[in-house]
Amino acid sequence: MAQSDAAAFPRVAGHPALDLVDTVHWRLDPQRAIDTLRDFDDVVSWCHQMNVRAATGAAKSAPSGAESDVAAREHRAVVALREAVYEAVFQHSSAAADLIAREHVDALARSSLSFDEPASAWVWVPPADLSGPRAAVAMSAHDLLTSDLTTARQCADDACGWVYLDRSPRRNRIWCTAAGCGNRNRVARHQAKQKG
Ligand SMILES: [Zn+2]
Repeated sequence: MAQSDAAAFPRVAGHPALDLVDTVHWRLDPQRAIDTLRDFDDVVSWCHQMNVRAATGAAKSAPSGAESDVAAREHRAVVALREAVYEAVFQHSSAAADLIAREHVDALARSSLSFDEPASAWVWVPPADLSGPRAAVAMSAHDLLTSDLTTARQCADDACGWVYLDRSPRRNRIWCTAAGCGNRNRVARHQAKQKG
């Protein structure tokens, strides 16, 4: 899990905007923290893996020249949105919510409604340029922020920092994954007991 693997971003959160927050591993330990969204290509890969609707045709090949400046700026903007989601949901930061609101309005202004046959609904389609992923992320972030956040949780591990919606029947999920942080902490507790 400590390895940065763009091909397999974590998907444990129950909402894409929180899955985006989880692209930072070991968030609560600055010494160990790993940001797996290293560049714009990673953002595009993440959108594809999460089925976040982002028209990224323009971003298939590595952009060059002025385009790469735009890509770098879009990457930074998506990272800023990610951190804003974390701060708005878990610290109730109004500055973070303001950023998401501005990006959401901007995203809607640049997107169009298109009828999606399988879903039988009109859905927002982000612009088919390098700003598509940012628009898609902004709409997802807005969707999360304006939904019921009572089940938003952060993993109980000291360092992990992954976040998720607790949809367990008893609302008692305390780990990001039972096999990862749950198991590691159980083993550590057991070993501490043996020693003590
Ligand atoms: Zn965890």
